[in-house]
Amino acid sequence: MSVEGHYLGMPLRIEALDQENLAYFRHCAAHAFHLQRCASCRLVRYPPTTGCPWCGDPEAVWTAVEGRGAVYTYAEVHHAIQPAFKNHLPYLSLIVELDTQKSVPTEHDALRVAGNLAALDGALAPPDLVAKVGIGTRVRMVFKDVAAGLAVPLWTLDEASPQPADPWRYPERGQA
Ligand SMILES: [Zn+2]
Repeated sequence: MSVEGHYLGMPLRIEALDQENLAYFRHCAAHAFHLQRCASCRLVRYPPTTGCPWCGDPEAVWTAVEGRGAVYTYAEVHHAIQPAFKNHLPYLSLIVELDTQKSVPTEHDALRVAGNLAALDGALAPPDLVAKVGIGTRVRMVFKDVAAGLAVPLWTLDEASPQPADPWRYPERGQA
């Protein structure tokens, strides 16, 4: 069965045939972060796919993964490409490197999970929070409920982790 709902006024829909994303977002709806662990090589992968990117085995088991890591890179969005985001500008779109499986299977590999920066309640982060976050900032996952079987995973500041004193940010316009 497909799942659909509205997020910030935008329609979201996962088709019935998309079993991997249905399972992924069903876990999100339970506010639990789960990824597929390959039955053969035991590596965890993201995003959800039908086969292991390392060994090709289609068999996998959904496994609880800690939704915690550091900002690997980000984009600060100032021009909304969807009207839904217009009232939330600027917002921060993050790629977060998980603590789980970092530098495995090689030093260049990691689980890097996309998501926007949010406040604790899952609303897109206000400008003062957006201005504080940069590369290296410690974040944890939160969820915004959309519909039965569908919640959007987002990132918020991890209050339990020590933060870098000066997380790297792109130079502001007008600065040298
Ligand atoms: Zn594998």
